[in-house]
Amino acid sequence: DRMRLDEKVAYVTGGGQGIGRAFAHALGEAGAKVAVVDLDQARAEAVAQELFIKGISAISISADISKPADVQRMIDTIVSKWGAIHIACNNAGINLNSASEETTLEEWDQTFDVNLRGTFICCQAAGRVMLRQGYGKIINTASMASLIVPHPQKQLSYNTSKAGVVKLTQTLGTEWIDRGVRVNCISPGIVDTPLIHSEDLKPLLRRWLSDIPAGRLAQVTDLQAAVVYLASDASDYMTGHNLVIEGGQSLW
Ligand code: NAD
Repeated sequence: DRMRLDEKVAYVTGGGQGIGRAFAHALGEAGAKVAVVDLDQARAEAVAQELFIKGISAISISADISKPADVQRMIDTIVSKWGAIHIACNNAGINLNSASEETTLEEWDQTFDVNLRGTFICCQAAGRVMLRQGYGKIINTASMASLIVPHPQKQLSYNTSKAGVVKLTQTLGTEWIDRGVRVNCISPGIVDTPLIHSEDLKPLLRRWLSDIPAGRLAQVTDLQAAVVYLASDASDYMTGHNLVIEGGQSLW
């Protein structure tokens, strides 16, 4: 079964809740060993424990993906524990909001430090291990906002950083393909996670719902098979791809 991930070693950043947590469960259920990585140590530990209870080999690592030393410690911890990294889910991201004329450079930098620079740091660190192995699947979490500007706007730094994640994915995906490494990304539409229930975003939710042909928000379960597919050898002929899962929202 080419969709099985038995004996594979995976990590998921932002694995402590939301989409990352769902990715960690899906990869583990498909057979992978999973390192749950999060800025919030308690969240990472709780998810690793959930996996452990299901009989999945799991560890938790607290790391800030915008810090190169944290990312290298994450990589070293996984390699020393399990001897390899086959699947890297670079999923951690943040979403700050402001009208563009009021967006501060601090907000812009913070968003880019995590969403784009942090994703690059993880891709490079995991990629070095994978290139040595001659095998690896990198799956970045971009966003539908990489393609369209979801209404109402006020997400300049977020949208721009996620467009960067797609280009990062395309570039690495073609550069490394002849050395056994695939790099793809998933672009979810609006997913029902803690991220979108922030006070900032609450007023936008109703408007967003009317923009979705599917008539509902995505649930994290709508994304789980996609990450397993991209982590598996079934997707070997895909690289640099942006897999958009948004209930048709980018088409309206
Ligand atoms: P979330 O806020 O619910 O969870 C994100 C997790 O990442 C949190 O546990 C947080 O502690 C962790 N995190 C934040 N910054 C980090 C850092 N610097 N280092 C390590 N961990 C960090 O978010 P979510 O909705 O699950 O989103 C996950 C990813 O999916 C993000 O990249 C987000 O941009 C993207 N996304 C979300 C949606 C959505 O509607 N929820 C839509 C499209 C894309």
